[in-house]
Amino acid sequence: MSSQSNSQLMAQAREVIPGGVNSPVRAFGPVGIEPRFIDRAAGSHIWDVEGKEYIDYVGSWGPLIHGHAYPPVVEAVRQAAGRGTSFGAPTAAEVELAQLVCERVASVQMVRLVNSGTEATMTAVRLARAFTGRSRIIKFTGGYHGHADTFLVKAGSGAATLGTPTSPGIPREVVADTLTAEFNNLEAVGRLFKIHSAQIAAVIVEPVCGNAGVIPPADGFLQGLRDLTAQHAAVLIFDEVMTGFRLGPSGAQGLFGINPDLTTFGKIIGGGLPIGAVGGAAEIMKQLAPVGPVYQAGTLSGNPIAVAAGLATLRALNEEVYTKLESLASRLENGFKNNLAKLSLPFQFQRVGSMACLFFTEQPVGNYAQASSSDTERFAVYFRAMLEQGIYLPPSQFEAFFISAAHTLEDIDRTVDANFAALQADG
Ligand SMILES: *Cc1c(COP(=O)(O)O)cnc(C)c1O
Repeated sequence: MSSQSNSQLMAQAREVIPGGVNSPVRAFGPVGIEPRFIDRAAGSHIWDVEGKEYIDYVGSWGPLIHGHAYPPVVEAVRQAAGRGTSFGAPTAAEVELAQLVCERVASVQMVRLVNSGTEATMTAVRLARAFTGRSRIIKFTGGYHGHADTFLVKAGSGAATLGTPTSPGIPREVVADTLTAEFNNLEAVGRLFKIHSAQIAAVIVEPVCGNAGVIPPADGFLQGLRDLTAQHAAVLIFDEVMTGFRLGPSGAQGLFGINPDLTTFGKIIGGGLPIGAVGGAAEIMKQLAPVGPVYQAGTLSGNPIAVAAGLATLRALNEEVYTKLESLASRLENGFKNNLAKLSLPFQFQRVGSMACLFFTEQPVGNYAQASSSDTERFAVYFRAMLEQGIYLPPSQFEAFFISAAHTLEDIDRTVDANFAALQADG
């Protein structure tokens, strides 16, 4: 525990860090209170600097599929650190991690490790542009692909939450090549291809949209994107930074049976340490330097500690873990849906695997426009009531909450009870 309270720390943080945080949504602005400064965590629980304990559904925004301070990860990190924190030279562990990704994800023949999801998507688009000799890309409204210039057009996650989906500070020429369509609207994508066919390098999509709440792909949507990109010789990029290794051993692409040309990873493959990866067909991946002409590099890429944490995480991800995640998540879903029914509330609980979201809106959410019809004031009241009862959810209507394999039945049942009370809170 710290000798200082959450609000004392926040006051100091605001003096030296913009908004007091190193990533925007952490500031809790959308829910009208001050953030909790986290002191420590174990399994599914976190403790703030004031000693208050919470059941955590943020999980560092996705990476912690086995929960916090998972002993095999902690041990792997300890051992790796003892052998040296970074060499700027290749290591055996990087090869093993690359092999593991290639084995599990059928569409991936080669991978390049980078330091974040943002770097992975940047690299994927650069590769697609080089490979096709075209410059335009199509992304979806509310889709979040990290904070590179190209993607900050109608973006999700914090950008949507804070009302700046299209950021200033980005040259007009850079975003002129970014075309957007509504998620799940295949016709709109077809129209863009009709007009710009010869200029479209890639379509980039979160196969399950997880940065505008949780929005599953409609039947045929992903297959339609596969068909359109193939037909127009454009590259299909699945951004699986969130869904990769979460929705199953081969991510969303395995779940829905679609093979993209390129896939981006992050979050889980680093087990809670900074990492990202881009992988895909060898023909495209071989465009990367030093075999090909597309430049990409990183002082700390393939960092031994991050790779060790990623390996420990992936090695432990077996069928049993996915079965457990599904049973915990469906128990939570049933509980939340029962509560909504008992209270005659029309809100939408949406879930794919261990990603879930409670939208405070009356219609099922299939795209960003529908997500943004949610009552964010009501969400804020709900969020605060949950936090008060020791349940730590993402502080935004437009973020997914994550169930980890460290959650227990007791955690889930306590969360369902808290949900019942919080749905009745009025401020
Ligand atoms: C988190 C996320 C990113 C960005 O990853 P960072 O490591 O935060 O740069 C990109 N795409 C998706 C789908 C994400 O969820």
